[in-house]
Amino acid sequence: MLLCETRWFPPVFHSGPYPVSAPDKNAAPAAAQTTNFLRNIIDAELANGKFAQRGWAGQPGEGSLHDAAAPDPARIRTRFPPEPNGYLHVGHAKSICLNFGLARDYGGVCHMRFDDTNPEKEDQEYVDSILDAIKWLGFSWDANGTHHQYQASDYFDFMYHAAELLIERGMAYIDQQTADEMRANRGTLTEAGKNSPWRDRPVEENLRLFREMKDGKHAEGSMILRAKIDMGSPNINLRDPAIYRIRFAEHHNTGNKWCIYPMYTFAHPIEDALERITHSICTLEFEDQRPFYDWLLGQLRDAGMFSEPLPRQIEFARLNLTYVITSKRKLMQLVNEKHVEGWDDPRMPTIVGLRRRGYTPEAIQLFCERIGVSKGDSWIDYSILEGALRDDLDEKAPRGMAVLDPLKLKLTNWNALFGTGHTEPCSAPVHPHHEAMGVREFNLTPEVWIEREDFQEVPEKGFRRLFPENMARLKYGYVIKCTGCEKDADGNVTVVLAEIVPNTKSGTPGADSVKVKGVITWVSASEGAPAEIRLYDRLFTEAQPDAGGRNFLDVINPNAKRVIQTWIEPGLTNATAGTSFQFERHGYFVADRKDHGQSGKLVFNRTTTLKDSWGK
Ligand code: ATP
Ligand code: MG
Repeated sequence: MLLCETRWFPPVFHSGPYPVSAPDKNAAPAAAQTTNFLRNIIDAELANGKFAQRGWAGQPGEGSLHDAAAPDPARIRTRFPPEPNGYLHVGHAKSICLNFGLARDYGGVCHMRFDDTNPEKEDQEYVDSILDAIKWLGFSWDANGTHHQYQASDYFDFMYHAAELLIERGMAYIDQQTADEMRANRGTLTEAGKNSPWRDRPVEENLRLFREMKDGKHAEGSMILRAKIDMGSPNINLRDPAIYRIRFAEHHNTGNKWCIYPMYTFAHPIEDALERITHSICTLEFEDQRPFYDWLLGQLRDAGMFSEPLPRQIEFARLNLTYVITSKRKLMQLVNEKHVEGWDDPRMPTIVGLRRRGYTPEAIQLFCERIGVSKGDSWIDYSILEGALRDDLDEKAPRGMAVLDPLKLKLTNWNALFGTGHTEPCSAPVHPHHEAMGVREFNLTPEVWIEREDFQEVPEKGFRRLFPENMARLKYGYVIKCTGCEKDADGNVTVVLAEIVPNTKSGTPGADSVKVKGVITWVSASEGAPAEIRLYDRLFTEAQPDAGGRNFLDVINPNAKRVIQTWIEPGLTNATAGTSFQFERHGYFVADRKDHGQSGKLVFNRTTTLKDSWGK
């Protein structure tokens, strides 16, 4: 069993072809499965029949309800439980791919659960964006005719009932110590805690006070309900943890019905058990909470509220990605303080940001498969994410030409060769490896745009493109011979001059008659279209932006967005927003979902370059 896998890649690295060319954009790619410690656990449980007797009542409820129902058609149940207080990010994508992916692969179901037990302001905007993000990633919570979308606040009555059961069993008490006293008596890592003077209240008194708490008879902070476990436990989480507190706060779902709210660590196991979850997969920070998770569900089973098999909490290492922040709070700060232009800014690691940047669901799923899951915390290099994207887009993105740093090239023998007014038709494959994707057609004209870097008046050593007397090929067109250039008063080159070498057109028998070493991409000056291109790069200049207490705002990359005016191949003017292309030699670009086509403007985002060039 791989319990301590800390490397970046899963044990088996895909040796291509990657499962990325799914024709249906929303279909999850068939996972080239690699095993991991989670799969090993599930395999073993399924093999020993742990879930064979599990019933499912068709809706969340107590054990007796499920036990009386037919066997669960889902072989396993997992859940994805975000708090609806922000947008999902690439770290959540790991959890989504894991939970929904396991359910898919094992014939199970993954529940979509909003963990909204905190009465703080939660927003419908976040709820909607979370649902959209998961659907876009290619997953669904509909299964066996049921829409498995739940919200934890619907379970408040069950949670209250569970708390009373604990009190009745002598396993919970109302504590009236002040917050300071409680802190002082909690002990430390090396020192046991001290029992509260209220710990041995009679059950009836605890019940009465808890009911009074619920009825709003006591002030916030005046008392709390605590589990009665062991103040001497080496695990601080077992030193009589708080389970219910008074908060006179309105809840977005339950309104003013409640003035007491359960603590997360109490609520979560109950949510899992009500939903008959088999595997409650969470990040490593919760490892120390597992004994309480098991204690609580064990108590409630013994009290008759739940039945075996109880859900099992399993922890995995959260995603840490270099050059990326994955804390909702910090991402919120980037948005609120306007360091970026919103949650869907293409520099953001949010799902909506990645999507607008040009990431595909398949690329994100591929990334999650490649990084695998482990029990050891590690940092994943950003280039792994970009690599997954390139591998996905390389296979499916149509090609096109764009000139990002335009310099005019004049073909001075055009009229002599072709006659005035002639345009020369050229063609190129939409995709070099997929003939079925068709052919692009465009015209060569007497003036074209080329990249400024493709001309050097005095060539440096090894330069093979245009310099006086040298020949190079205009891609898909003719070999040309450079004859010189024109300059402005400051000596800047304004126009490059060249002559067409007759009978050398690509695709004709004469194409190979002249051998050249340089091939140049171009766009017709009269037929190409102007486009705005936004060049995006990593948002931070440091691999671990918030490491060692550093303020991540101090290492924002000021060049993470640059806007340039460019020329693109005429056929690209038909691009619909959200479509990805490979601009030959430059990288992958996507027609911006928001701005492309607005008031006649063409806008493309650079998703990533063709090769990993960061820091080189
Ligand atoms: P934050 O601390 O940024 O608010 P969170 O973990 O509190 O994030 P939730 O909305 O509670 O955010 O997360 C929903 C699920 O996503 C949880 O099960 C959590 O474990 C998982 N998750 C969040 N961040 C990551 C990450 N970086 N890697 C893997 N899983 C993550
Ligand atoms: Mg959280």
